[in-house]
Amino acid sequence: MRKGFTKLLSVLLVVGMVLSLTACGTEETQTGSSYDVVVVGAGGAGLCAAIEAKVHGAENVLLIEKMPFAGGNTLLSWAELACAGNWLQIEQGIEDSNEQFAKEMWEGGGKVARKEMVDIVVNNALDAALWLRDEIGVVYQDYLVHEGGHSVPRAVEPVDLGPGMIYPLLDKAEELGVEILYDTKAEELLVNDEGRVIGVQATNQEGEEVTFFAEKGVVLATGGFGANVEMRQKYNTRWETLDESVQTTNSPAATGDGIVMAEKIGAQLENMEHIQLYPFNNPMTGVFYGIEAPSWSGEGIVYVNQDGKRFVNEVGMRDERAEGILAQGGVAYAIYNQEVADRLNLEEIYADEYAQCLADGVFYKADTLEEIAEYFDINAENLVETMEKYNEYMKAGHDPEFGRKTSMVPMEEGPWFILKGVVSVHHTMGGVMIDTEARVINTEGEIIEGLYAAGEVTGSVHGNNRVGTCAISDIVVFGRIAGKNAAQGI
Ligand code: ADP
Repeated sequence: MRKGFTKLLSVLLVVGMVLSLTACGTEETQTGSSYDVVVVGAGGAGLCAAIEAKVHGAENVLLIEKMPFAGGNTLLSWAELACAGNWLQIEQGIEDSNEQFAKEMWEGGGKVARKEMVDIVVNNALDAALWLRDEIGVVYQDYLVHEGGHSVPRAVEPVDLGPGMIYPLLDKAEELGVEILYDTKAEELLVNDEGRVIGVQATNQEGEEVTFFAEKGVVLATGGFGANVEMRQKYNTRWETLDESVQTTNSPAATGDGIVMAEKIGAQLENMEHIQLYPFNNPMTGVFYGIEAPSWSGEGIVYVNQDGKRFVNEVGMRDERAEGILAQGGVAYAIYNQEVADRLNLEEIYADEYAQCLADGVFYKADTLEEIAEYFDINAENLVETMEKYNEYMKAGHDPEFGRKTSMVPMEEGPWFILKGVVSVHHTMGGVMIDTEARVINTEGEIIEGLYAAGEVTGSVHGNNRVGTCAISDIVVFGRIAGKNAAQGI
């Protein structure tokens, strides 16, 4: 009896929606398929949202993805997730707390984010990591990652990096019966007369216009706009230029679609001007190097300019390092020695990357500092002096020139490794404004009913600079909240 009544109610609802549908102001009636929850974007946040929507009572969940595959930037990332009090910290006797983590994440973002948003991420990050590990089946390494901006090693890293997180999420979504449509691009959000978001208009694989109604809610999880040069140029106020001369670490799909769609129906955007550059990337691809691992592994590493001189804290915040490299004309060199490479087992793990980079002329290895300097036409005399000073500072535990406080590791003997690096657009901190329940807020400060957002499409969490390894904490925590709340109509 109840079931029959619910079914009848849904039919009436869909008919009502069809009759009152307004697609971004155009009065046209349409028909389409109906779901409880529609999630847009099958990256990290979208997969988490779709799973949680299903788990929390949504019977029909649709996940649409404009690319022919899932994963987005999350697939390309290392999927390292910062969480205080995690199992590896406990094993290694590292003291940490959510208060300390929240302070560092918020201060690292220039105290620009709403602190309560940072607290939500931080307070739920460990639970997110345990959920990924125990419910989703992500397998983690037995070491911690220590990115700049964190006072202690704090992030867990999946074996197999981004794919090691995305594929188990995808398996879980499929197992739960989430319907996934690839090559399906959301174009517009559909709003009814009361201002409630009731669905999504999209273009399907055949290039046809299709409509998906969402009875309970739409979750936007379309990622950032790092690959959209026009948007970068429109919003950037900090860097001299972010035109096509600056490459990106992002997937070409990171074009800010969700931000544009949400803005069109009245969503408030925030922090759009804050665009993060990843400081040190392979000049051939614009993407970060695996073989620069010493900079996030608590190890010895030195950055020098063409003149053979240090210019920045090599393990400091990403924005400081990016600024430092730009001030050297946009090119820098990272140097470490054989002992460092051996401790991290780099030559075995990254054998292919070393070979490719050697062939491309962006990496070189030699016995002496003079030889690596000569290869890249760096001032050798200065480089030798720089390394002497670096070792003095590291041994004294005090770096009076650049204030390095962590990874105080001297490097005295060759052979030496050297990489050439450039900055790339990495993360767009701005996006749609959400509240602590992942509901999208409009320009009047009110909740847009039926619309939720999570991940890089939002602008409320990272302030003016995202601290390394906090993106995955954000997308999993808010992806889960958005999916659950959409399913429950919160
Ligand atoms: P996040 O880290 O916030 O989860 P990702 O970059 O990992 O972001 O994922 C965003 C996903 O959204 C990508 O897979 C991307 O292809 C997809 N996407 C972006 N725009 C659209 C759109 N208009 N329609 C459908 N999918 C989209």
